[in-house]
Amino acid sequence: MDQSELEEKARENFETKKSISAEENSYYEAKIETMGLKTLERLIQFHPNPSKLMKKGVTFAHQDLETVVEAIGRNKPWSVICGLNPSGPLHLGHKMIFDELLWLQQQGAEVYIPITNDESYVVGKSPTLADSRRIAYDSVIPSIIAMGFDSKKTHIYVMSDYPEIYNVAMDLSKHTNLNRIFGVFGFGKDEVGENPGTLFYRGAVQLAQILLPQFEEFGGPQATLINVGVDQYPYLLLSRDVARKKGFVPPSAIFTKFLPGLSGTGKMTSSRIKSSIFLTDSLKDAEKKLKKAYTGGSILADFQRENGGVFDICPIYNLRANHFEPEYDLKDRCSSGDLLCGYCKKDAITEVLQYLSEHQAKLEDAKSRIDEYLLKTPIRSIL
Ligand code: SF4
Repeated sequence: MDQSELEEKARENFETKKSISAEENSYYEAKIETMGLKTLERLIQFHPNPSKLMKKGVTFAHQDLETVVEAIGRNKPWSVICGLNPSGPLHLGHKMIFDELLWLQQQGAEVYIPITNDESYVVGKSPTLADSRRIAYDSVIPSIIAMGFDSKKTHIYVMSDYPEIYNVAMDLSKHTNLNRIFGVFGFGKDEVGENPGTLFYRGAVQLAQILLPQFEEFGGPQATLINVGVDQYPYLLLSRDVARKKGFVPPSAIFTKFLPGLSGTGKMTSSRIKSSIFLTDSLKDAEKKLKKAYTGGSILADFQRENGGVFDICPIYNLRANHFEPEYDLKDRCSSGDLLCGYCKKDAITEVLQYLSEHQAKLEDAKSRIDEYLLKTPIRSIL
């Protein structure tokens, strides 16, 4: 390719990245509109110290957050629930969600973390129940503890080791019906071959996780909040229905965008090992993955100096801006063309490796403290 062909290619590439960025932004705007959500503008304006992800627009919308704000204002108990599938160790996408949970705990929330090893097994993400259970205790729970949660206000349970939750699911299943579940989740021909456990899971077990803090044993009806992606909206709808029928407070939600995977397509997820930085990755592996990561930059350095990078679709930008505190204004330097991707990745590698070494150094101690965090409360009120 000669120089003019390269420049032409660089321009095409730049335009494509810009249009992907515009599409993504309009996707979330459309979700706010169609799902009837509210932005967090007012909270950010009036809260003395909003979370970093709220300020950056990563946690971008809410439903009925007013109920939680009122509970805080009246000094009443409230809880936040965030389930987690242990099909692999935690990655930086999970860390982002847990950073938000930590902030919510600092605002006074009791934090409930169901580790859904039963779901990992039922939907086929884990070959055996024992496998996902092992991952939960060996890796997932120690990583959560190492992030700094307060053991007095954090309640973790591995689903298959807390059978009480299935009694709660049974109780709640009486307050909905298949018609409503099919309507909310859109079950159709594609689901015919699914494990029937999936249906009970979506229609009852997930509700049990969300509504558990409102049972008598945990203080009775109270404001509850789930922190989810927009794809989890049906669970919010269903849990609000059932809460009303039980005389509970309908749960509220905040919605967070996903952390993009390093390949530039899709989110960071346990099933795409090369596209995700796991909190247990060796420093060498993490460095290798970051060096190969897709960016919002250009194939031509001069073109990037002139036009800047498309930061908002760049996995390196998202990772650095959401997790770390770069010493310079990353958005400004990227979009002005002042910063090129090679230098930016070098700084990203320094930040990520430092975080991973600090996190991994805490894991052994965290493993010895698992018992302090496990929820063991028997639920007698429904028996
Ligand atoms: Fe992404 Fe950094 Fe390149 Fe900007 S300079 S596109 S933030 S890697």
